[in-house]
Amino acid sequence: METTDDGTGGGAGDELRWRVGERVRALAPRLTEVARFLKEHPEVGHQEYEAQRFLCSVLEEAGFAVERGVAGLPTSFRAEYPPGGGGRPRIAFLAEYDALPEIGHGCGHNLIAAISLGAALALRDEGCGTLVVLGTPAEETTGGKIAMCEAGVFDGLDAAMLVHPGWRTSVGGSSLASHPVEIEFFGRAAHAAAAPEKGINALDALLLTFQAVHALRPRLDPAVRLPGIILDGGTAPNVVPDYTRARFSLRAADARYLEEVVVPAVLDCARGAAQATGCRLEWRFYEPLFLDMRENQVLARLFADEMRHLGYEVQELPPAMRGGSTDVGNVSHRVPAVQPSVAIGDPPPPGHTREFAEATVSEPALRAMLDACTALAVTGARLLHDAGLVQEVWQAWHQGMRESSRTTP
Ligand SMILES: [Zn+2]
Ligand SMILES: [Zn+2]
Repeated sequence: METTDDGTGGGAGDELRWRVGERVRALAPRLTEVARFLKEHPEVGHQEYEAQRFLCSVLEEAGFAVERGVAGLPTSFRAEYPPGGGGRPRIAFLAEYDALPEIGHGCGHNLIAAISLGAALALRDEGCGTLVVLGTPAEETTGGKIAMCEAGVFDGLDAAMLVHPGWRTSVGGSSLASHPVEIEFFGRAAHAAAAPEKGINALDALLLTFQAVHALRPRLDPAVRLPGIILDGGTAPNVVPDYTRARFSLRAADARYLEEVVVPAVLDCARGAAQATGCRLEWRFYEPLFLDMRENQVLARLFADEMRHLGYEVQELPPAMRGGSTDVGNVSHRVPAVQPSVAIGDPPPPGHTREFAEATVSEPALRAMLDACTALAVTGARLLHDAGLVQEVWQAWHQGMRESSRTTP
C-alpha cells in the first residue's frame, strides 16, 4: 500500500501524484497530437478506421498487445499491458472516437480517446496489475459498448473509466435507459374519395397510436420519455394509406421498468389501434437496449478528489439528474464504471455543434484534457497499488446494483 485514499494527499499520495503527473506532462505533445489528428479526421460510427489505426499504433509503440476488431466490430480494439495480461486489478480506460455527421467532433470524443490513451501510457511502468485500453466505436449510433458487453469484453475487469468533455466538471448523475421501437401498420389502399369503404387506413392506426401513447404519459413514472416521429404516413391524399411507419425513442430511469412496463404499454397502444382500424401491426427494436448508468461512487470520489487537487471545482450531481442515454450504462451494469465530465472552455459552447468541435483543440480544452488525464491516471494508480480500495469499488458496485429498480412495480 503506497497511497492514502482519503483524497487529502499525504506523503505517499503526493509522491504518486507527482510521478504520474510527470509522466502525463511528458506525454503531452503526443496526446495533443492525438486530439488534433482525430479532430482533423472525423469519422462517424463504424467508419473510424483512421482513429483505430492511429491509436493502435501509439499503443503498439509503447509495448501494448493490440487486438483489432473485437466483438465483431471492425473499428474496435483491445490493447493490453503487459502483453498476455498481468495480475489483478485489471483497469480499463475506454476510448471513444466516433464523430457526428457534418459536425465532426462536436461531442469531443477526440478528447476522450486522448485522455484514456494517456492514462494507460502513464501507468505502464507502475509494474503491477493489468492495463487495458478498449477502443469502443459508434457511441453516437448503435453503441459499440453494448456489443462488446455481450461478447464478454468487459468481463474480468475491476474498473472501466473514461472522461467526457462538456460544459461542467462533474461526477455523478446518471443516464436514461433507452430502447427505440419501430412500429409499422399494414392496411389496404383504395380511392380515398370514390371508394374509401374498400380501404383499410394505416394512417388512422398510426394517429390513434400517437394519441394513445400521449394518454399513457400521466400513468407512467415522470422520468419516462416517449418521443416519436412518423417516417411513412401515406403517399397521396386521394389514396387510403396502406402502409405507415413510426419510430419511438422510449426511455426510462430504470431498464427493468422500461422493459416490463413502458415498452409493453406502448405496444398495447399500437395493438389497440390495429384492432380499431383493422390493420396488421408489425414492430421491432431498431437499436439495442441502452441500460441506465450506475456510476461507481468510489471511482467517482477518487476522480473528483484528483480534479480538486488540480484546482478544479467539481460538481457532484444527484443520481436523479439524468442526461440522455449512453452505452457506458451497459458497461456499468457489468463492472464498476465511471464517466465524469470535464469542462473544456469558459464558457464552453453547446455540445453537438461545430463550435464545440473547434473548441476541443483550443488551449483551455487541451489543458483540461491533460488535467483530466492526470486525474484519471492517478485514480488508476491508486487502484493498482491498493487491493483494499479495489474491494471498496466492488462493494459500491454491488450496492449500486441492489438499489436498482426503485421505480419497478
Ligand atoms: Zn454525443
Ligand atoms: Zn459523447
